[in-house]
Amino acid sequence: MAKQNWATNINFHDAQTLHPKSIEELSSIVATNTKVRARGSAHCFNTIADTHEVAVILDQMPNELSIDASSQTARVGAGLNYAQIAEYLESHGWALHNLASLPHISIAGAVATGTHGSGVKNGALHTSIKSLDLMGPDGVIRTVTRGVDDDFYASIVGLGLTGIAVAFEVDIQPTFEIMQTVYGEMPRAHFGENIVEILSGAYSVSYFTTWGSDNAGDLWFKSLTPPPAEFFGAKARTEKAHPIFGEDPLACTEQFAVPGPWHLRLPHFRIDANPSAGNELQSEFFVDSKNASAGFAAIEAISHNFGEKLLVTEVRSIAADEHWMSPAYGRETVAFHFTWKNDYEIPYFVSLIEDALQTFNFRAHLGKVFNVTGAHLRTVLPKFDDFAAHVKKVDPSGKFQNQFTQELFKK
Ligand SMILES: Cc1cc2nc3c(=O)[nH]c(=O)nc-3n(C[C@H](O)[C@H](O)[C@H](O)COP(=O)(O)OP(=O)(O)OC[C@H]3O[C@@H](n4cnc5c(N)ncnc54)[C@H](O)[C@@H]3O)c2cc1C
Repeated sequence: MAKQNWATNINFHDAQTLHPKSIEELSSIVATNTKVRARGSAHCFNTIADTHEVAVILDQMPNELSIDASSQTARVGAGLNYAQIAEYLESHGWALHNLASLPHISIAGAVATGTHGSGVKNGALHTSIKSLDLMGPDGVIRTVTRGVDDDFYASIVGLGLTGIAVAFEVDIQPTFEIMQTVYGEMPRAHFGENIVEILSGAYSVSYFTTWGSDNAGDLWFKSLTPPPAEFFGAKARTEKAHPIFGEDPLACTEQFAVPGPWHLRLPHFRIDANPSAGNELQSEFFVDSKNASAGFAAIEAISHNFGEKLLVTEVRSIAADEHWMSPAYGRETVAFHFTWKNDYEIPYFVSLIEDALQTFNFRAHLGKVFNVTGAHLRTVLPKFDDFAAHVKKVDPSGKFQNQFTQELFKK
């Protein structure tokens, strides 16, 4: 793997980059080194997956993939990506409840940062994890199971700090078909006043806007039943769309309400294409859905500053969950996402958004670009300090920490 993240805005500093091929090899690496940082597919936009010491990447592990139909679960090796998992499940007649906008990311890296898709009734991706095999700093694996272990909700969205995830048991359901329709030119004011109702219109709904003078946006509507020709005054597009206006829509999954399997419709981007724009940065902020309209208006009020730096904003919903470091911990959530040009000035624009959302107790996507510190996150994530204490307990010497996490959790 190149020693850069996907977006190429981060150069990794690994003293060693290791790809163990067995549990025994991984265990020996973990037990004999003072600092070890797990890395997935390197799709984060900040230094969360960086290290100056040993990086371990599990893509060459045996990475088991099997289904237990009786318990409706799959056993999934942590080094697999969602495309591999989804294709396997679908070929056996099974599905996951949801996917992110792209299937290229590893399951371990995705759940470690609380990665999510959309849908008012859909929890983020980590909510499908039933159990996790986690390697501790001594190289020994322990299974952490939902409903059994007290530290389950501390362990899954673990930011790489709660251990090295080796395998997951994941809830699955029978495969289902879904169809995708893009409604064009939905007035922004109209969307802003009715966010939760509009995002509740189908299984998974996203609204894209550039905050431009057209005062409009596109609604990506993934429905289990045939969609209406018009939705909230917007008409179904007759030409294929890309979330970033002007990019080639060939990279996107099928539209025009053509039914197809869940894994070929829930992500916006096809596995065999480069997702999004490529040369970009991303940031994302989460508010309680009760504050969605007010938060949207607050962003609208400062959006004239973004100019050409912003490629697009996406608004999505996430069902509340119980995972301590989840962006949706304890609250029904609306997410405001920003895809930016890859530019050194982006943190300034991000700070404008953070200021605008301050009164709404926003949380930040910890895998994307943000400026706020642990001092802010402590006030908006009720379990922040409990998580830090849990990490201290399971990893007293800080073997799994890196500069990013040390900075985030410093008092
Ligand atoms: C084009 C694009 C689209 C995106 N769309 C979405 C989206 O729709 N929704 C969303 O929420 N995010 C989205 N993201 C962000 C991305 O999905 C997350 O940041 C995710 O964490 C990336 O997973 P990864 O495997 O690349 O993790 P990495 O960046 O490699 O690592 C992330 C974290 O996971 C930890 N980790 C990795 N492997 C392990 C392991 N085996 N054990 C323990 N910890 C581990 C690392 O230590 C690190 O803390 C997008 C990113 C891109 C580039």
